[in-house]
Amino acid sequence: MERHYRLLCIACGRDIEDSESGFSLECRENHPPSLLRAVYRRKTLTVRPELPGIFRYADWLPARRTLESAGSPVVYQSSGLADALGMDRLYIAFSGYWPRRGALLETCSFKELEALSVCARAPLPSHGRTLVVSSAGNTGRAFLQIGSITGIPMLVVIPESALSDMWTTVAKPPGVNLGVLVGGGDYLDAIELGNRIAARDGFYSEGGAKNVARRDGLGTVLLAAAEAIGEIPAHYFQAVGSGTGGIAAWEMSMRLREDGRYGDRAMKLHFVQNDPFAIMAEAWHSGSRQLPFMSEEKAKAGISRLHSKVLSNRKPPYGITGGVFDALTDTGGHMYSVSNAEARDAGLLFESLEGCDPDPAAQVALAGLIHAVKTGKVDTGETVLLNMTGGGKRLLEKEGRMRKVTPDFIFTMQEARDFTKTEMPLTKVS
Ligand SMILES: *Cc1c(COP(=O)(O)O)cnc(C)c1O
Ligand SMILES: [Zn+2]
Repeated sequence: MERHYRLLCIACGRDIEDSESGFSLECRENHPPSLLRAVYRRKTLTVRPELPGIFRYADWLPARRTLESAGSPVVYQSSGLADALGMDRLYIAFSGYWPRRGALLETCSFKELEALSVCARAPLPSHGRTLVVSSAGNTGRAFLQIGSITGIPMLVVIPESALSDMWTTVAKPPGVNLGVLVGGGDYLDAIELGNRIAARDGFYSEGGAKNVARRDGLGTVLLAAAEAIGEIPAHYFQAVGSGTGGIAAWEMSMRLREDGRYGDRAMKLHFVQNDPFAIMAEAWHSGSRQLPFMSEEKAKAGISRLHSKVLSNRKPPYGITGGVFDALTDTGGHMYSVSNAEARDAGLLFESLEGCDPDPAAQVALAGLIHAVKTGKVDTGETVLLNMTGGGKRLLEKEGRMRKVTPDFIFTMQEARDFTKTEMPLTKVS
Protein backbone atom coordinates (compact mmCIF):
# COMPACT_ATOMS: atom_id res chain seq x y z
CA MET A 1 0.00 0.00 0.00
CA GLU A 2 1.30 3.44 -0.80
CA ARG A 3 2.12 5.49 2.27
CA HIS A 4 0.66 8.92 2.99
CA TYR A 5 4.13 10.49 3.14
CA ARG A 6 7.56 10.43 1.53
CA LEU A 7 10.90 11.55 2.87
CA LEU A 8 12.83 14.45 1.38
CA CYS A 9 16.56 14.98 1.80
CA ILE A 10 16.82 18.70 2.54
CA ALA A 11 20.38 18.91 1.20
CA CYS A 12 20.06 17.24 -2.21
CA GLY A 13 16.31 17.07 -2.70
CA ARG A 14 16.29 13.30 -3.13
CA ASP A 15 12.94 11.65 -2.61
CA ILE A 16 13.22 8.63 -0.30
CA GLU A 17 10.74 5.92 0.56
CA ASP A 18 10.56 5.08 4.25
CA SER A 19 12.02 1.74 5.30
CA GLU A 20 9.62 -1.15 5.81
CA SER A 21 11.75 -2.78 8.48
CA GLY A 22 12.63 0.24 10.62
CA PHE A 23 13.23 3.94 10.07
CA SER A 24 15.00 5.66 7.18
CA LEU A 25 17.12 8.20 9.07
CA GLU A 26 19.47 9.64 6.46
CA CYS A 27 20.23 10.14 2.79
CA ARG A 28 22.77 7.85 1.14
CA GLU A 29 24.10 10.44 -1.30
CA ASN A 30 27.60 11.71 -0.76
CA HIS A 31 27.12 15.15 0.80
CA PRO A 32 27.48 16.70 4.28
CA PRO A 33 24.92 15.34 6.75
CA SER A 34 21.36 16.57 6.40
CA LEU A 35 18.06 15.92 8.06
CA LEU A 36 15.30 14.24 6.10
CA ARG A 37 11.87 15.81 6.24
CA ALA A 38 8.50 14.12 5.93
CA VAL A 39 6.45 15.36 2.98
CA TYR A 40 2.78 14.52 3.41
CA ARG A 41 0.46 13.80 0.53
CA ARG A 42 -2.29 16.01 1.97
CA LYS A 43 -1.31 19.66 1.94
CA THR A 44 -4.36 20.77 3.89
CA LEU A 45 -4.72 19.43 7.39
CA THR A 46 -7.93 17.56 8.13
CA VAL A 47 -8.23 17.35 11.90
CA ARG A 48 -9.68 13.98 12.93
CA PRO A 49 -11.18 14.39 16.41
CA GLU A 50 -12.43 10.80 16.34
CA LEU A 51 -8.82 9.55 16.58
CA PRO A 52 -7.09 9.41 19.99
CA GLY A 53 -4.80 12.22 21.22
CA ILE A 54 -2.18 13.48 18.75
CA PHE A 55 -3.51 11.14 16.07
CA ARG A 56 -6.17 13.76 15.39
CA TYR A 57 -3.27 15.11 13.26
CA ALA A 58 -2.56 11.74 11.61
CA ASP A 59 -2.47 13.36 8.15
CA TRP A 60 0.81 14.97 9.21
CA LEU A 61 2.35 12.18 11.25
CA PRO A 62 4.52 9.45 9.67
CA ALA A 63 2.59 6.75 11.54
CA ARG A 64 1.68 3.24 10.41
CA ARG A 65 -1.07 3.00 13.04
CA THR A 66 -2.72 4.99 15.79
CA LEU A 67 -2.29 4.22 19.49
CA GLU A 68 -5.39 4.02 21.64
CA SER A 69 -4.11 5.60 24.84
CA ALA A 70 -2.52 8.64 23.18
CA GLY A 71 -2.66 12.03 24.86
CA SER A 72 -2.00 15.41 23.31
CA PRO A 73 -0.75 18.91 24.14
CA VAL A 74 -3.28 21.51 25.26
CA VAL A 75 -3.20 25.15 24.23
CA TYR A 76 -5.01 27.97 26.01
CA GLN A 77 -4.85 31.74 26.19
CA SER A 78 -3.17 32.95 29.37
CA SER A 79 -4.67 35.65 31.54
CA GLY A 80 -2.65 35.56 34.79
CA LEU A 81 0.83 35.38 33.32
CA ALA A 82 -0.17 37.53 30.33
CA ASP A 83 -1.34 40.32 32.66
CA ALA A 84 1.83 40.12 34.73
CA LEU A 85 3.95 40.48 31.59
CA GLY A 86 1.65 43.07 30.02
CA MET A 87 0.96 40.85 27.02
CA ASP A 88 -2.31 40.86 25.08
CA ARG A 89 -2.12 37.58 23.23
CA LEU A 90 -0.02 35.07 25.13
CA TYR A 91 -0.93 31.45 24.45
CA ILE A 92 0.44 28.61 26.50
CA ALA A 93 1.01 25.16 25.06
CA PHE A 94 1.19 22.71 27.93
CA SER A 95 2.40 19.13 27.60
CA GLY A 96 2.20 17.24 30.84
CA TYR A 97 -0.21 16.22 33.55
CA TRP A 98 -2.81 18.86 34.34
CA PRO A 99 -6.22 17.16 34.23
CA ARG A 100 -8.11 20.39 35.03
CA ARG A 101 -6.83 21.75 31.69
CA GLY A 102 -7.36 18.46 29.88
CA ALA A 103 -3.64 17.65 29.79
CA LEU A 104 -3.19 13.93 30.39
CA LEU A 105 0.42 13.12 29.46
CA GLU A 106 1.29 11.01 32.49
CA THR A 107 5.05 11.11 31.95
CA CYS A 108 4.79 14.88 32.37
CA SER A 109 6.62 16.18 29.29
CA PHE A 110 6.29 16.68 25.54
CA LYS A 111 8.68 13.75 25.06
CA GLU A 112 5.57 11.61 25.35
CA LEU A 113 4.38 13.14 22.06
CA GLU A 114 7.53 11.94 20.28
CA ALA A 115 7.34 8.52 21.97
CA LEU A 116 3.77 8.10 20.72
CA SER A 117 4.67 9.14 17.21
CA VAL A 118 7.85 7.02 17.03
CA CYS A 119 6.10 3.93 18.43
CA ALA A 120 3.34 4.43 15.87
CA ARG A 121 5.98 4.49 13.10
CA ALA A 122 7.90 1.49 14.48
CA PRO A 123 7.52 -1.99 13.00
CA LEU A 124 5.23 -4.28 15.01
CA PRO A 125 6.73 -6.34 17.88
CA SER A 126 6.51 -9.45 15.69
CA HIS A 127 9.26 -7.88 13.60
CA GLY A 128 11.63 -9.17 16.28
CA ARG A 129 14.15 -6.35 16.63
CA THR A 130 14.64 -4.09 19.64
CA LEU A 131 14.41 -0.31 19.39
CA VAL A 132 17.31 1.53 21.09
CA VAL A 133 16.61 4.98 22.53
CA SER A 134 19.08 7.20 24.40
CA SER A 135 17.91 9.80 26.83
CA ALA A 136 18.89 12.41 29.43
CA GLY A 137 15.67 11.78 31.35
CA ASN A 138 12.29 12.77 29.98
CA THR A 139 12.63 10.89 26.69
CA GLY A 140 13.55 7.72 28.55
CA ARG A 141 10.55 7.96 30.84
CA ALA A 142 8.21 8.63 27.92
CA PHE A 143 9.51 5.67 25.89
CA LEU A 144 9.37 3.31 28.88
CA GLN A 145 5.74 4.30 29.34
CA ILE A 146 4.63 4.08 25.70
CA GLY A 147 6.78 0.98 25.16
CA SER A 148 5.05 -0.66 28.09
CA ILE A 149 1.61 0.22 26.75
CA THR A 150 2.32 -0.84 23.16
CA GLY A 151 4.63 -3.78 23.86
CA ILE A 152 7.18 -2.53 21.31
CA PRO A 153 10.49 -4.16 22.34
CA MET A 154 12.98 -1.50 23.35
CA LEU A 155 16.11 -0.69 25.28
CA VAL A 156 16.28 2.77 26.85
CA VAL A 157 19.85 3.93 27.59
CA ILE A 158 20.42 6.69 30.16
CA PRO A 159 23.27 8.17 32.20
CA GLU A 160 23.07 7.30 35.89
CA SER A 161 22.23 10.93 36.72
CA ALA A 162 18.82 10.40 35.07
CA LEU A 163 17.90 7.29 37.05
CA SER A 164 15.65 9.13 39.51
CA ASP A 165 13.56 10.30 36.51
CA MET A 166 12.82 6.73 35.40
CA TRP A 167 9.30 5.93 36.45
CA THR A 168 6.08 5.06 34.67
CA THR A 169 2.42 4.85 35.64
CA VAL A 170 1.95 1.42 34.05
CA ALA A 171 3.52 -2.03 34.53
CA LYS A 172 6.64 -2.67 32.45
CA PRO A 173 6.67 -5.88 30.38
CA PRO A 174 9.86 -7.99 29.99
CA GLY A 175 10.58 -6.76 26.42
CA VAL A 176 10.96 -3.16 27.56
CA ASN A 177 14.32 -2.62 29.26
CA LEU A 178 16.32 0.11 30.95
CA GLY A 179 20.11 0.28 30.55
CA VAL A 180 22.09 2.58 32.82
CA LEU A 181 25.55 3.97 32.12
CA VAL A 182 27.40 4.40 35.42
CA GLY A 183 30.66 6.12 36.32
CA GLY A 184 30.27 9.75 35.22
CA GLY A 185 28.76 9.34 31.76
CA ASP A 186 26.47 12.09 30.50
CA TYR A 187 23.78 12.28 27.82
CA LEU A 188 26.26 12.23 24.91
CA ASP A 189 27.98 9.16 26.38
CA ALA A 190 24.58 7.47 26.57
CA ILE A 191 23.85 8.44 22.93
CA GLU A 192 27.16 6.95 21.80
CA LEU A 193 26.58 3.75 23.75
CA GLY A 194 23.06 3.54 22.31
CA ASN A 195 24.50 3.87 18.79
CA ARG A 196 26.96 1.04 19.43
CA ILE A 197 24.21 -1.24 20.72
CA ALA A 198 21.91 -0.30 17.84
CA ALA A 199 24.59 -1.38 15.35
CA ARG A 200 24.37 -4.96 16.61
CA ASP A 201 22.13 -7.59 15.11
CA GLY A 202 18.67 -7.60 16.59
CA PHE A 203 18.63 -3.87 17.39
CA TYR A 204 17.74 -0.68 15.52
CA SER A 205 18.29 2.96 16.39
CA GLU A 206 15.54 5.41 17.21
CA GLY A 207 17.73 8.08 15.63
CA GLY A 208 17.00 11.12 17.81
CA ALA A 209 16.49 14.33 15.84
CA LYS A 210 16.97 12.40 12.59
CA ASN A 211 13.73 10.52 13.15
CA VAL A 212 10.96 12.42 11.37
CA ALA A 213 8.41 10.77 13.68
CA ARG A 214 10.16 12.26 16.69
CA ARG A 215 10.06 15.74 15.16
CA ASP A 216 6.52 15.61 13.84
CA GLY A 217 5.26 14.15 17.13
CA LEU A 218 6.75 17.16 18.92
CA GLY A 219 5.40 19.40 16.15
CA THR A 220 1.81 18.54 17.10
CA VAL A 221 2.22 21.28 19.71
CA LEU A 222 2.15 23.81 16.88
CA LEU A 223 -0.83 22.12 15.24
CA ALA A 224 -2.73 22.28 18.54
CA ALA A 225 -1.78 25.95 18.75
CA ALA A 226 -2.97 26.69 15.21
CA GLU A 227 -6.26 24.97 16.01
CA ALA A 228 -6.71 26.94 19.26
CA ILE A 229 -5.55 30.33 17.95
CA GLY A 230 -6.81 30.04 14.38
CA GLU A 231 -3.50 31.27 12.97
CA ILE A 232 0.24 30.69 13.07
CA PRO A 233 1.62 32.60 16.10
CA ALA A 234 4.07 35.44 15.44
CA HIS A 235 6.56 34.15 18.02
CA TYR A 236 7.41 30.72 19.43
CA PHE A 237 9.34 30.24 22.69
CA GLN A 238 10.91 26.96 23.76
CA ALA A 239 13.75 25.69 25.95
CA VAL A 240 16.17 23.71 23.76
CA GLY A 241 18.72 21.06 24.55
CA SER A 242 19.00 19.42 21.16
CA GLY A 243 16.62 21.77 19.38
CA THR A 244 14.57 18.90 17.99
CA GLY A 245 11.31 20.33 19.29
CA GLY A 246 12.19 23.74 17.89
CA ILE A 247 13.07 22.38 14.45
CA ALA A 248 9.79 20.49 14.58
CA ALA A 249 7.79 23.64 15.29
CA TRP A 250 9.50 25.40 12.37
CA GLU A 251 8.72 22.53 9.99
CA MET A 252 5.07 22.42 11.08
CA SER A 253 4.81 26.20 10.65
CA MET A 254 5.92 25.76 7.02
CA ARG A 255 3.29 23.07 6.45
CA LEU A 256 0.65 25.34 7.96
CA ARG A 257 1.71 28.18 5.65
CA GLU A 258 1.38 25.88 2.69
CA ASP A 259 -2.06 24.84 3.93
CA GLY A 260 -2.96 28.53 3.71
CA ARG A 261 -5.83 28.66 6.21
CA TYR A 262 -3.67 29.74 9.14
CA GLY A 263 -2.08 32.81 7.59
CA ASP A 264 1.18 33.26 5.77
CA ARG A 265 3.32 34.21 8.71
CA ALA A 266 6.96 33.20 9.13
CA MET A 267 6.84 32.34 12.82
CA LYS A 268 9.87 33.73 14.62
CA LEU A 269 11.69 31.17 16.74
CA HIS A 270 13.02 32.03 20.22
CA PHE A 271 15.13 29.26 21.73
CA VAL A 272 16.28 29.33 25.34
CA GLN A 273 19.18 27.49 26.94
CA ASN A 274 20.26 27.09 30.56
CA ASP A 275 23.35 29.07 31.41
CA PRO A 276 26.07 26.90 32.77
CA PHE A 277 25.80 25.00 29.46
CA ALA A 278 24.47 26.98 26.50
CA ILE A 279 26.58 25.99 23.49
CA MET A 280 23.96 26.67 20.84
CA ALA A 281 23.29 30.14 22.25
CA GLU A 282 27.03 30.80 22.21
CA ALA A 283 27.40 29.63 18.63
CA TRP A 284 24.39 31.63 17.45
CA HIS A 285 25.56 34.81 19.16
CA SER A 286 28.92 34.53 17.46
CA GLY A 287 27.15 34.11 14.12
CA SER A 288 28.55 30.64 13.61
CA ARG A 289 27.10 27.48 12.11
CA GLN A 290 29.73 25.59 14.10
CA LEU A 291 29.40 24.79 17.79
CA PRO A 292 32.20 26.25 19.95
CA PHE A 293 34.94 23.87 20.97
CA MET A 294 34.66 22.88 24.61
CA SER A 295 36.67 20.23 26.44
CA GLU A 296 34.73 17.25 27.73
CA GLU A 297 35.67 18.17 31.30
CA LYS A 298 34.44 21.73 30.98
CA ALA A 299 31.22 20.63 29.30
CA LYS A 300 30.50 18.01 31.95
CA ALA A 301 31.21 20.51 34.73
CA GLY A 302 28.65 22.89 33.21
CA ILE A 303 26.13 20.12 32.65
CA SER A 304 26.40 18.95 36.26
CA ARG A 305 25.29 22.41 37.43
CA LEU A 306 22.27 22.71 35.11
CA HIS A 307 18.90 23.42 36.67
CA SER A 308 17.35 21.54 33.74
CA LYS A 309 19.50 18.51 33.00
CA VAL A 310 17.53 17.53 29.91
CA LEU A 311 19.07 20.59 28.22
CA SER A 312 22.48 18.94 28.08
CA ASN A 313 23.13 17.60 24.57
CA ARG A 314 26.82 18.15 23.72
CA LYS A 315 26.24 17.35 20.03
CA PRO A 316 22.88 18.89 19.12
CA PRO A 317 21.72 19.04 15.45
CA TYR A 318 22.73 22.69 15.27
CA GLY A 319 24.82 23.09 12.11
CA ILE A 320 23.38 20.17 10.12
CA THR A 321 21.34 21.07 7.02
CA GLY A 322 17.75 21.58 8.15
CA GLY A 323 18.81 21.96 11.80
CA VAL A 324 18.74 24.67 14.45
CA PHE A 325 21.01 27.16 12.65
CA ASP A 326 18.92 26.96 9.47
CA ALA A 327 15.66 27.28 11.43
CA LEU A 328 16.84 30.39 13.27
CA THR A 329 18.25 31.92 10.10
CA ASP A 330 15.08 31.28 8.11
CA THR A 331 12.82 32.93 10.69
CA GLY A 332 15.09 35.73 11.91
CA GLY A 333 15.02 34.04 15.31
CA HIS A 334 16.81 34.59 18.59
CA MET A 335 18.65 32.55 21.19
CA TYR A 336 18.80 33.23 24.90
CA SER A 337 20.56 31.74 27.86
CA VAL A 338 19.16 32.14 31.35
CA SER A 339 20.60 31.39 34.78
CA ASN A 340 19.38 28.72 37.17
CA ALA A 341 18.03 31.42 39.47
CA GLU A 342 16.10 33.12 36.65
CA ALA A 343 14.60 29.77 35.69
CA ARG A 344 13.55 28.97 39.26
CA ASP A 345 11.94 32.41 39.69
CA ALA A 346 10.08 31.98 36.42
CA GLY A 347 8.85 28.58 37.58
CA LEU A 348 7.46 30.03 40.80
CA LEU A 349 5.80 32.84 38.85
CA PHE A 350 4.10 30.34 36.53
CA GLU A 351 2.93 28.26 39.42
CA SER A 352 1.43 31.18 41.29
CA LEU A 353 -0.25 32.75 38.25
CA GLU A 354 -1.28 29.73 36.18
CA GLY A 355 -1.52 27.05 38.85
CA CYS A 356 0.68 24.13 37.79
CA ASP A 357 4.27 23.15 38.57
CA PRO A 358 6.42 23.38 35.40
CA ASP A 359 9.28 21.06 34.48
CA PRO A 360 12.67 22.80 34.98
CA ALA A 361 13.07 23.09 31.19
CA ALA A 362 9.72 24.83 30.89
CA GLN A 363 10.88 27.22 33.61
CA VAL A 364 13.88 28.00 31.41
CA ALA A 365 11.56 28.77 28.47
CA LEU A 366 9.49 31.22 30.50
CA ALA A 367 12.62 32.93 31.82
CA GLY A 368 13.59 33.46 28.17
CA LEU A 369 10.20 34.96 27.34
CA ILE A 370 10.48 37.37 30.29
CA HIS A 371 13.87 38.42 28.97
CA ALA A 372 12.51 38.93 25.45
CA VAL A 373 9.63 41.11 26.65
CA LYS A 374 11.98 43.22 28.78
CA THR A 375 14.39 43.78 25.91
CA GLY A 376 11.66 44.45 23.36
CA LYS A 377 12.32 41.39 21.18
CA VAL A 378 8.58 40.80 21.15
CA ASP A 379 5.87 43.41 21.01
CA THR A 380 3.35 42.95 23.82
CA GLY A 381 0.48 43.16 21.33
CA GLU A 382 1.68 40.25 19.19
CA THR A 383 0.53 36.63 19.28
CA VAL A 384 3.07 34.64 21.26
CA LEU A 385 3.15 30.89 21.84
CA LEU A 386 5.03 29.76 24.94
CA ASN A 387 5.77 26.06 24.76
CA MET A 388 5.62 24.80 28.33
CA THR A 389 7.17 21.48 27.46
CA GLY A 390 6.56 19.71 30.75
CA GLY A 391 4.95 19.84 34.15
CA GLY A 392 2.43 18.45 36.57
CA LYS A 393 4.62 15.97 38.44
CA ARG A 394 3.45 17.17 41.82
CA LEU A 395 -0.16 16.10 41.31
CA LEU A 396 0.86 12.75 39.89
CA GLU A 397 3.06 12.19 42.93
CA LYS A 398 0.16 13.07 45.21
CA GLU A 399 -2.02 10.57 43.40
CA GLY A 400 0.63 7.96 44.23
CA ARG A 401 0.76 6.45 40.74
CA MET A 402 4.48 6.66 39.96
CA ARG A 403 6.23 3.30 39.73
CA LYS A 404 10.03 3.38 39.90
CA VAL A 405 11.79 1.61 37.03
CA THR A 406 14.91 -0.28 38.09
CA PRO A 407 17.81 -0.95 35.69
CA ASP A 408 17.77 -4.14 33.63
CA PHE A 409 21.33 -3.58 32.34
CA ILE A 410 24.26 -1.68 33.80
CA PHE A 411 27.25 -0.49 31.76
CA THR A 412 30.46 1.03 33.05
CA MET A 413 32.14 3.75 30.98
CA GLN A 414 34.87 1.27 30.04
CA GLU A 415 32.35 -1.34 28.92
CA ALA A 416 30.50 1.33 26.97
CA ARG A 417 33.68 2.32 25.10
CA ASP A 418 34.56 -1.28 24.28
CA PHE A 419 31.09 -2.14 23.17
CA THR A 420 31.36 -3.24 19.56
CA LYS A 421 29.54 -5.56 17.25
CA THR A 422 31.40 -8.68 18.18
CA GLU A 423 32.37 -8.31 21.82
CA MET A 424 30.41 -8.40 25.03
CA PRO A 425 27.00 -9.93 24.92
CA LEU A 426 24.36 -7.94 26.80
CA THR A 427 24.04 -9.36 30.28
CA LYS A 428 21.07 -8.68 32.45
CA VAL A 429 21.15 -7.42 36.01
CA SER A 430 19.89 -10.31 38.12
C1 LIG B 1 13.83 17.53 25.99
C2 LIG B 1 13.10 18.65 26.58
C3 LIG B 1 13.26 19.94 26.10
C4 LIG B 1 14.22 20.29 25.01
O1 LIG B 1 13.79 19.74 23.82
P1 LIG B 1 14.81 19.52 22.63
O2 LIG B 1 13.95 19.05 21.56
O3 LIG B 1 15.80 18.50 23.10
O4 LIG B 1 15.49 20.78 22.37
C5 LIG B 1 12.50 20.96 26.66
N1 LIG B 1 11.64 20.70 27.65
C6 LIG B 1 11.46 19.46 28.17
C7 LIG B 1 10.50 19.27 29.28
C8 LIG B 1 12.19 18.40 27.64
O5 LIG B 1 12.01 17.18 28.15
ZN1 LIG C 1 20.67 13.84 0.07
